[in-house]
Amino acid sequence: MPYTHIFAGNPLDRGDRERRDEELIKRMMRQDNARMLPFHRLMPLVRRNMRGNPHAELAWISHEFVDDLPPEAGGPKFLGFDKDRNPHFAVDISVVEDPSHIAALAPGATFEDGRAAATDIPGEQSGILAQARSQLDWHARHRFCSVCGTESQSRRGGHMRQCPNCASQHFPRTDPVAIMLVYRGDRCVMGQTQARSTTTFYSCLAGFMDQGESIEEGVRREIWEESGLEIGKVTYHSSQPWPFPASLMIGCHAEAITEDIVIDSGEMSDVRWFTRDEVKLALEDKLEGVNIPGPIAIAHHLIKAWADGTANI
Ligand SMILES: [Zn+2]
Repeated sequence: MPYTHIFAGNPLDRGDRERRDEELIKRMMRQDNARMLPFHRLMPLVRRNMRGNPHAELAWISHEFVDDLPPEAGGPKFLGFDKDRNPHFAVDISVVEDPSHIAALAPGATFEDGRAAATDIPGEQSGILAQARSQLDWHARHRFCSVCGTESQSRRGGHMRQCPNCASQHFPRTDPVAIMLVYRGDRCVMGQTQARSTTTFYSCLAGFMDQGESIEEGVRREIWEESGLEIGKVTYHSSQPWPFPASLMIGCHAEAITEDIVIDSGEMSDVRWFTRDEVKLALEDKLEGVNIPGPIAIAHHLIKAWADGTANI
């Protein structure tokens, strides 16, 4: 069964051909049909209190406000075209101390946390939000060439930065994270990290992929490091962009061939086995002392697929 998680399902045509034409990108920024989505300190402009469904939507505005931004704002970044060929852009306005006059361009809209907004806007808009947020964050963190230290310039509508001194090209990064539900027979493993403030939150084990490592190897290594369990079969389930700032969650199921858990106490505060019945209760928020991730997160769907018996394992 195909999954389109929150933060996936972006419907825009990213315009790979058009974005290589720098003059065209500049012209499109000033077209009457250009749609601009401003972000203030990585918070998108969102309109709420709409009647019916959806509860909220991304608040696109026209391009005029961009002329008043200082050059250090970095300019609009091209996201792509909708089905009517309207060009869409994301604009970082973090240099503006008080952005209320820009928010006012979309009546009823405010800048708000992207994670909170993601579940209230239509799914396909959460995909656009993910693309835009990750891209603006990357530009903000990568202004300077990592080879020679010169300030680089945005090219291809933001799909690349080029150094005017040494000509190095730098591309936006996506960081793969393996996230997996470990199972053996009728039990599965969930853990809680040291970083979490609540002691009742359990989720799948997860960790960044290392360099020179296949997904299966990353899954096995992370599980070994966090729980001491050895893994046989690894099965891919689905993936989810996670724009905080630019991860790609690669969701898998992993079959344990050992049962004794040895917790990495530097990283995890607890890792333990749960029965399928316990997990079903937890999915309904009825398991005493245990909370698990909600449907915004791929972890929820990895857990649910195993509990329901619909996982491809
Ligand atoms: Zn350089």
